[in-house]
Amino acid sequence: MSDSDGMETTVVLLKPDCLAKGLVGEVVCRLESLRLRIRGCKMIRADEDLLRDHYSHLADRPFFPEILEFMQSSPLIALALEGPGCVESVRRALGPTDSALAPKDTIRGLYGTDKMKNIAHASDSVETARTELDRFFRSSEIH
Ligand code: ADP
Repeated sequence: MSDSDGMETTVVLLKPDCLAKGLVGEVVCRLESLRLRIRGCKMIRADEDLLRDHYSHLADRPFFPEILEFMQSSPLIALALEGPGCVESVRRALGPTDSALAPKDTIRGLYGTDKMKNIAHASDSVETARTELDRFFRSSEIH
């Protein structure tokens, strides 16, 4: 989501592997170091309908059932983060999808396991961020 002043809000989901490894604080610390403001933060359980919506671009991929299972294996932490150009800066801080290929100075490169267990999701465009903000947060949960 982008305002007229270039301020953007992006959505991050801390995935089950992030919680299982006790890395919530570490990842939030790295994101906060990008000088982002936390506008929303909550623990959620993503049900299958929500995940089918969120990952609809992957519905025909063979690993899709595994993603549904993985993302429902524990609660997630959903964050709405605001900052100038933050959609791109958060994606850069995360690194590419495959943790094994992600540079070692990125969150996925440091802490992720593979293509699926890669610690966190982040919106991939300003447009997607707008959709994801509505998908994961009520307006009363954004501050
Ligand atoms: P990103 O999360 O980097 O934007 P995608 O939108 O392509 O990547 O994929 C969404 C999520 O689906 C990934 O973060 C990962 O958890 C899972 N995923 C993507 N590709 C694979 C794959 N080849 N095998 C297993 N899981 C995958």
